[in-house]
Amino acid sequence: MADRAFCPRCYEDVEFNTVKDTETIELDGAKYTYRIRKAICATCGAEAVHNPYRQEAGEAFDDAVREANGIVSLTIVRDLPKKYNIGKRPLSTLLGWGELTYSRFMEGAIPNREYSDIIKDLYDHPESFKALLLRNGEKIKPVAKRKASEAVDHALHNQYPDAVRIYEVAERMIDLAEGDITPMALQKLVYYAQAFSAILCDAPLFLQPPRAWAAGPVYGQLWHEYKHGVLIPDAVSRDDSPFSDDENDVIEGVYEAFGRYSGPELSRFTHSEEPWVEARQRAGAQDGDWCEEQISLESIVAYFGPIAEKYKIRSSDRIKHYVNDLANKPS
Ligand SMILES: [Zn+2]
Repeated sequence: MADRAFCPRCYEDVEFNTVKDTETIELDGAKYTYRIRKAICATCGAEAVHNPYRQEAGEAFDDAVREANGIVSLTIVRDLPKKYNIGKRPLSTLLGWGELTYSRFMEGAIPNREYSDIIKDLYDHPESFKALLLRNGEKIKPVAKRKASEAVDHALHNQYPDAVRIYEVAERMIDLAEGDITPMALQKLVYYAQAFSAILCDAPLFLQPPRAWAAGPVYGQLWHEYKHGVLIPDAVSRDDSPFSDDENDVIEGVYEAFGRYSGPELSRFTHSEEPWVEARQRAGAQDGDWCEEQISLESIVAYFGPIAEKYKIRSSDRIKHYVNDLANKPS
C-alpha cells in the first residue's frame, strides 16, 4: 500500500505527491532557512500532513540552527560512538561528563559550544580521541577500552596512512639529539625536515600536512603520542634509517641548523614564516587561538622554494644561513 498523508481539507487519509520546498523560521531574532519535503493531497491539492516529512523538517531546522551557531550536527554526534566503537555511557564517562549527558545529545539535545567543540575535535581527529583514551581509559571497563583502542588505531591508520614515515623522521631527530628533545622542538624539526626535503629532494618525506596550532606547525598524532609517552619513537641511527642518502642529508642538515634552538625559539621562527601565518589568517585565528587549519604542502613549497633560492641552499649544509637570519630577526 502506498504511503498516505492526512489532508485537512478532505479530512481523511489521502494519496499525495511530494514537492521540494524551503521553509524559514525566525528564532531569537535570527532567521533559519532549510530544505523540506511537502506532501500535497492528490485529490484537492492542499498541503497534507505526512509525519515522516514533518520529522525531517524538524531535523533540518535543528541542523540549520546548529550550523548557524557553529554547533556540531546531530549526525556527527550519532556517528562518534560508532567511529570509535564505544557505547554512549562509557564515552560520557571517558569525557568526564555525566553518565547520561552523551545519550541526551544523541537524542537531540543541543550541546553548548564547549561540549560541541570537544565532540567535533574527537570526530575529526582520532589522535584526540586516542589521547583521551590514554588519559581516562582506566575509568571504563577493560573490554570497552580495548574495543575503542582498536577502533581508534584503525581510524588513525585510515586518516594518516603514512604516519609511520613521520615517526621515522622523528626517530632520526631523537637520535641526532641523543634523546634530549622536547615535544615542541621535535615537531618543528620534523616540520623543517619536511619543508627542506620537499625543496632539495623534490619530494616530501611524507604526506600528512601539519596543522597551524598556536605555537606553530604540529603533526597531531606524533604530538599526542610523544607528549603522553606512548609509542615514544626510539632513536634510530643513519644506518638503520629507511631514508635515502639525500633524505638523510636533509634530516641531518636540518638538525645541524635548527637543533641548537629550544622549542619556544623554533616556535618563534615558524611564526615569522608564511605557511603558518597564512593558515592562521585563513582560519581567522588570533594570537594564541586554538586552530586546526591545515598547512598545505603547496604553501610550504611556495615559501621554502624562494628561500632556498635566496640563500643559495642547494645542499643541506647551507640551511644554517637561513636559520642565522631567522634567529637575528627581532620578534
Ligand atoms: Zn485533499
